[in-house]
Amino acid sequence: MKPIRSIALIAHDNKKAEMVAWAMKNREALADAVLCGTGTTAKLVGEATGLQIKRFLSGPHGGDQQIGAKIAEGEIDAVVFFWDPLQAQPHDPDVKALLRIAVVYDIPIATNRATADCIVTAKRLARSEEDGK
Ligand code: PGA
Repeated sequence: MKPIRSIALIAHDNKKAEMVAWAMKNREALADAVLCGTGTTAKLVGEATGLQIKRFLSGPHGGDQQIGAKIAEGEIDAVVFFWDPLQAQPHDPDVKALLRIAVVYDIPIATNRATADCIVTAKRLARSEEDGK
């Protein structure tokens, strides 16, 4: 797996509180990543953690597609995407396209907290190997 330096964050509305809580818990690991996210998610996580996060458009307005394009350009190494399994989304085709492009480029994409924790752990391990610790 490629070292994780750049992480995209996306959370559907009913999952935003969970994303903010997850980001706060993992603030230290996220602090040494280049972060980006869909509009509202990036805003909320940025405000809560104080971390700098590049804001793309809101998901339903094309943000998922912008992040998909960055994956295709090799600029995003991992995605934490808390999608809502209990509510239909107007931009469902974009959601599906994002999941697809992450698989095409073999990018780790976490869709729940347990898997997001694995990404952060992998990032920490890679970092300590880099530091020779
Ligand atoms: P948002 O977009 O972070 O701008 O709310 C997320 C989404 O619904 O895809």
